[in-house]
Amino acid sequence: VNDRDAALTKLREAFPDGAIDKLPKGINKEQPKSRCDICGGFHEPARIHLDYVGHAAVTERLLDADPAWMWEPVAWMEDGRPLLDVDDKGRPVGLWIKLTVSGVTRLGYGTVEAGKTEPTKELIGDAIRNAAMRFGVALELWRKHSDADSASVSTRGKQVSGAGASNGSGAASKAQIGKIHATCKEREVGEEFMRAIVASKWPESEGHLSKVTKAQASELIDFLTTAADERLDELASRLMGAQDAKA
Ligand SMILES: [Zn+2]
Repeated sequence: VNDRDAALTKLREAFPDGAIDKLPKGINKEQPKSRCDICGGFHEPARIHLDYVGHAAVTERLLDADPAWMWEPVAWMEDGRPLLDVDDKGRPVGLWIKLTVSGVTRLGYGTVEAGKTEPTKELIGDAIRNAAMRFGVALELWRKHSDADSASVSTRGKQVSGAGASNGSGAASKAQIGKIHATCKEREVGEEFMRAIVASKWPESEGHLSKVTKAQASELIDFLTTAADERLDELASRLMGAQDAKA
């Protein structure tokens, strides 16, 4: 077993109970807030609490596996800051990152509710947790979430339901493909551009939606829905420009 394999195996180890927190889901905002005995928070009644591993414990695990682990944004703005996806009011809602552990790099996407006070911090934490999940960090908990929470429509729920291997690895559903086409139309993303996005995100798909998994399809829908116009423009010039250059 070489160092890289040892590090990647370390990432997948189960977490001790002490590292597992409770996240309230399915909150009923019509009801008053109160102190919660389950998670210790102060919130309206929740339908369910999910087990999850927070950003600090994930970071500790990354350090244990590879003290030199690092992340970087997938794209930068001209002034040198990470490029964030924003909503139509310009509020940060998403961040793509590359996470590198022991020389292996995988992508992750973080989301945050629009209008949070420290959106960038939350985006970084969420993106690292998401990318770490691609390495198998706390994968069992993510899988449980996708079973317990597949009906959730919150931002995090979408991410979670797209994350589970149990329902994310099959081919994209007809409904998902329909949604992708509809969203493309809405965002004025042409067929060729959409294929280029798919091919750049998942090279093994060769740009064919028929070769995209459920989890990838839900990621793509999230991206097409939330990406800022400028982000799409930038991507178009990069991907389509590159294609022109090749031809
Ligand atoms: Zn609670």
